[in-house]
Order: sequence, then structure tokens, then C-alpha cells
Amino acid sequence: MGSGMNFSIVRRNMVERQLKARGISDPRVLEAMLRLPRHLFVEEALRSQAYSDFPLPIGEGQTISQPYIVALMTEALQLTGGEKVLEIGTGSGYQAAVLSCLAAQVFSIERNSALARKARSVLDANGFGNISVRVGDGSLGWEAEAPFDAIMVTAGAPAVVEEIKRQLGLGGRLVMPVGSFREQVLKRIVRRGDTDFQETNLTACRFVPLRGRHGWQDVPSR
Ligand code: SAM
Repeated sequence: MGSGMNFSIVRRNMVERQLKARGISDPRVLEAMLRLPRHLFVEEALRSQAYSDFPLPIGEGQTISQPYIVALMTEALQLTGGEKVLEIGTGSGYQAAVLSCLAAQVFSIERNSALARKARSVLDANGFGNISVRVGDGSLGWEAEAPFDAIMVTAGAPAVVEEIKRQLGLGGRLVMPVGSFREQVLKRIVRRGDTDFQETNLTACRFVPLRGRHGWQDVPSR
């Protein structure tokens, strides 16, 4: 396989079998993931697996999330097109690209400068003009650009981060994995008022750890 692969066919299969079959129903999310060339966000040797039902390595010990998790988290943000969105953990840039098809402006923050550089070059080369990528500690959010209509954290945190919650506008949605170093629960939090946040659990999940001030400080030994 590899270069001879028909990516539009495997992408359609991904949408039908991994997303629709598991209950993803927002037509805008399905359409974005049907159109977006996810294979461009992984290294050449892994392109034939880019639409498979699992995460893939992207270098620096990090991963691009499983397509279903990308869809589930995106759907939970309930984007309609005009929103200002923050993503914490740019990684490959694929999730930012999905968000950029569904919202007006995307701000994405990555602590690893090599990954941020790579993501920015793929996004620029493919004409994603409404995404700003910055290197920094996303566990602090992106205060200068707050408030956001939606925030997505794509790394697992030990607890819900108050500083990030406070960067939501009224009615804003936050999706983030929270739990232990190895297993988390995907939480959806909606800001109902100044200090009123409604929290629901979506599913069990496994993300790489969120680092930084409000993330994991030390790696537990295996
Ligand atoms: N959303 C990414 C994609 O579409 O490829 C996948 C993200 S990967 C599962 C998690 C990312 O979070 C890694 O790239 C990691 O370097 C980053 N990360 C971890 N802690 C961070 C922090 N405090 N601030 C910003 N990025 C962080």
C-alpha cells in the first residue's frame, strides 16, 4: 500500500465504520473529516495507517488521536461556524485543521516547539489560514485571546483546570480528559454563568499526559 492508496475511499470507510457506526451524527463534523487529508499530518511511512481505528505516533513521544476520539470531542463542542476556539496540544495539527473547518478562528498551543513547527508548516502548506499556533504552556490556557466559545484539551490532565475554565465565555463548552496518568474520563463542561459550570462525563479514554503548571509534573515509573 502507501503511495498507491486511494485515500478518499479509505476516508469514506473511516467515516462510515468508525464514526457514523458509533453514533457521531453532526453532519458538519462528518463532512469535515470526510474531506480532510489526515494522511498529510503523519509521516510518510505511516500514511497507509492514517485512517485506521487507533492513534499513531507523531514523534517526540506524542500521538495523533484516534479518528473516533477526534470526532467525539469535536462534536461535543457543538460548533456552528462563527466561534473562536482554543485547542491545547497542537500535536500534528490535524485536530486544529478539523476545528478550522467548523469555526471562525482557531488558536492552538503546543509546548513542544519541534511539533509546533511541523504542524504549522503542514497547516500553512495546505491553506489553513484561520489557525494561530503558538509554543507555550497550554495548561495556563491562552489568556490574551480569551474568552473562547469552545476549548478542547487534547492531553490528559490530573484535574479540571480552573484557569482554563475561566477562559470560557458564557455558554462556552470545554472538552478535556481528566484522570490518572494512564486512564482518564473525557469531560464536557459548559459555562452557564459566572461561577456556574455544568459538568458531564462522555467516555473513558487514554491520552498522553498534559504537562506544564497545571498538568503532570513527574512521570511515574513504569
Ligand atoms: N491534537 C493533536 C493532533 O491533532 O495531532 C494530538 C495531541 S497529542 C494527543 C497531545 C499534545 O499535547 C502533544 O503534542 C503534547 O506535546 C501536547 N502537550 C502536553 N502538555 C502540553 C501543555 N502543557 N501545553 C501545550 N501542549 C501540551
